[in-house]
Amino acid sequence: MKGKISLIIGVVLFILIVGATYSKTMVTSSNNKTTTDEKIEELNYKGKFPIPIENFIKVTSGFGIREGSQIVSTNHHGIDLVGNKDSRILAVANGIITYSGWQSGYGNCVEIKHINEDGEIFYTFYAHMQDDSLSVMEGQKITVGQVLGVQGTTGNSTGDHLHFEIRLENKTRINPALYLFEEMEE
Ligand SMILES: [Zn+2]
Repeated sequence: MKGKISLIIGVVLFILIVGATYSKTMVTSSNNKTTTDEKIEELNYKGKFPIPIENFIKVTSGFGIREGSQIVSTNHHGIDLVGNKDSRILAVANGIITYSGWQSGYGNCVEIKHINEDGEIFYTFYAHMQDDSLSVMEGQKITVGQVLGVQGTTGNSTGDHLHFEIRLENKTRINPALYLFEEMEE
């Protein structure tokens, strides 16, 4: 009888110890994952990019979760910038055009591939430009400040603005405000 009880206690203790170790491992590995994710989501870029729109007025929507009038909140993968009417959209860095044309949701848009001083590849993306305003072609070399098109409201858009994204080599989108402004815009 005594042996049986100590066997039961032993089994219970064993389960508790294994359980504790297991949950500790889970916590540790999920922590590691978070750290890795955070590490991926940055770009080594020295200084700031120029604002990619002429006659910039204001930011109308920041990066990340936004809860507007919609019931379901959506994740905003870029930043919305507004300039004067018919403001031209400008490349923020030297690169090569990897896309120029229509994309569902984004309307007339342009993607540029860049390589930074550390040899890292990243992309910038410019959306909602006016019809027939795109002035660049896929494969074309581009220099900073070069005109890509004209601010518009094509695609899924409710008013004239530029939707601007910065994408890492793996196409993870990061907060462009960190690379445009001295202080992060809300
Ligand atoms: Zn947007």
